[in-house]
Amino acid sequence: MNLLNVIRGESFWTPARRLFAGQSPGRGKGRLPGGHVGDREDLKKALLFCQGCVRKFNHIRAGYTKKRNLPVVRGRCDGCQEYTPQGHLMVHHTLANLC
Ligand SMILES: [Zn+2]
Repeated sequence: MNLLNVIRGESFWTPARRLFAGQSPGRGKGRLPGGHVGDREDLKKALLFCQGCVRKFNHIRAGYTKKRNLPVVRGRCDGCQEYTPQGHLMVHHTLANLC
């Protein structure tokens, strides 16, 4: 049992609420996209980019790789913060299961 279950109770944490709680709050107001993406890189978190922003991110220099088994994903782009139906998921190479 983790701390969240103790505070809220197990009946509060429905699957939909667990998904919403794990969602990134996104880039802060007045923050540049590069700083937001850089912070997520330092934490080795997964990054999602739209078609326009994926070209601006040098994934080789950052040590990231594309998940080949997930060619497109839906979600909010970490660069421009817009919803994209066909985004590219980047994961750090140490965390990617590429076998
Ligand atoms: Zn974008």
